[in-house]
Amino acid sequence: MKKFLSSCFIIVFLASSWASSGQKSVQLTLDSIFNSRGEVYFKFFVRHRDDIRTLSSEISIDRVKGDEVFAYANRKEFDAFMKHQVAFTLLQAPGTLLSQAELNPCGTNRPLNTSAWDFYPTYDQYVGFMAGFATAHPNLCRLDTVGTTVQGRLILAVKISKNVNTDEGEPQLLYTSSIHGDETTGYILMLHLIDYLLSGYGTDPVATNLLNTTEIFINPLANPDGTYHGGNGSVSGAIRYNANGIDLNRNYPDPQAGQHPDGNAWQPETQAWMAYASANRFTMSANFHGGSEVFNYPWDTWSKLTADDDWWQFVAREWADTVHKYGPAGYFTDQNNGITNGYQWYYVTGGRQDYMNYFQHCREVTVELSYTKLLPANQLVNYWNYNYHTFLNYINETHFGFNGVVTDTVTDLPLAAKVYITLHDMDNSEMYSHQPSGFYARPIYDGSYNVTFSAAGYFSKTVSSVNTAKYTTHHLDVQLKPLTYGLQDRVVNSVMVFPNPSDGHFSLNLPDHVNPSCSVQVINTFGKIVYSSEVAPGTGTRTVPVNLAGLPEGLYFVEFNSGYQIYFDKLIIRR
Ligand SMILES: [Zn+2]
Repeated sequence: MKKFLSSCFIIVFLASSWASSGQKSVQLTLDSIFNSRGEVYFKFFVRHRDDIRTLSSEISIDRVKGDEVFAYANRKEFDAFMKHQVAFTLLQAPGTLLSQAELNPCGTNRPLNTSAWDFYPTYDQYVGFMAGFATAHPNLCRLDTVGTTVQGRLILAVKISKNVNTDEGEPQLLYTSSIHGDETTGYILMLHLIDYLLSGYGTDPVATNLLNTTEIFINPLANPDGTYHGGNGSVSGAIRYNANGIDLNRNYPDPQAGQHPDGNAWQPETQAWMAYASANRFTMSANFHGGSEVFNYPWDTWSKLTADDDWWQFVAREWADTVHKYGPAGYFTDQNNGITNGYQWYYVTGGRQDYMNYFQHCREVTVELSYTKLLPANQLVNYWNYNYHTFLNYINETHFGFNGVVTDTVTDLPLAAKVYITLHDMDNSEMYSHQPSGFYARPIYDGSYNVTFSAAGYFSKTVSSVNTAKYTTHHLDVQLKPLTYGLQDRVVNSVMVFPNPSDGHFSLNLPDHVNPSCSVQVINTFGKIVYSSEVAPGTGTRTVPVNLAGLPEGLYFVEFNSGYQIYFDKLIIRR
């Protein structure tokens, strides 16, 4: 047991708004909260940062400020926490702090207006808005149902792009918000972003360019059961967890802690997202939260850094700097002036960020948009103004680094291939090209990289010195040669060399070879290549003269690689 646990005794502090008369009333209070909301919100102090790591696997830590920890727990999790005998303070839930007038200042008579988001829509209005975007812009917007929740609400996403129903081989960006149901700033800002992009197409150059070149996916509400826990008519009473009392952002397979790091089955919401991520090929993603103001990049579960830590730091600083330019002084300055490595802030297992990075090869970040989880509606437009430039820039960032299409040399058809950078990629940081377009995108920091493209049934190909620089796109299309046959069948003994023996002046009878990169090699009995030459493609049997008069007498092996088969003969030099 940790030091801080053994020397403590139970002290229960209650927030000033809570009536208190000892532990019995505390227990009654807790029972009442668990019965109505399924979760409690509380804070406590730790003596050592390592203690956060212990507690993080038992309760849902929300924020850490020095040695002060804010957390949520369901009944089972809170029982585990209580065993440590740590003093705590119960806090009023963020989802219950605002009046109906603050959440919807214009009341129920407001006309539905998707350009003014100074109100929180009802659940039915939200569903109507999402469907309406697709109906109004059928060539730019498609409505996807990612899945359904425990209580049967819809998890919805829109895909936004020019020719939205065609996979055009473009980078894919995913924005998703409010996996914690009471962190609703991103919910409204994402509705606003959808509206901005669609209504700006054709008039706003930034929106037009992004839609012409990018496939943008936006899910404003990842946990509708949590957000509308108080009923479909209002976000008042929103909770963090889903309807089963489980934190969805601790429910994912973890690269270090295994398939079920929280000890719970994958929730319907989790399963839906895993399937949706697998069905797409997201290049980059951001998952929006509230309760702090910071850009939290991977890993959360490992102290070691990602292969692309320099890129992450650059992108994080760009995000925060842009917010600082448009926001008020002091906004978005938590941790290192608005950015942090996840593990250095606090350890989390089962988070969606690490799942997406490790298992889906997607660069996903966790962004905390506002200290206040449930903002008064009249402040939402301010947060939109602070953030929308950085939302647009981050979408554009999917284009930088290098990208292209991988195809088959014979058929020219697109291929699903692995794109691996030697002496760089690790912990699943490699990217893949996908069907049906064969497109891949590799965001990366400035440098010169050796990149190997490989696919089952094909010869691998390495491209050396792929140079990348900030704000630029290095286009790199690659063709891979099919193996066509099994390896043993590809080696053919053949009579190519004549005359044989010779004094070193001889000719090769080469079979048909239409592949652009065919080669002849002569190898001595020690396995050393003593001659190597590229051969231009041609049809029909051809005779190619070779002069190896400078080689000593002896036995040699001749290999001709046509790209599909390797022809093999012996050469004897005798003088
Ligand atoms: Zn959160």
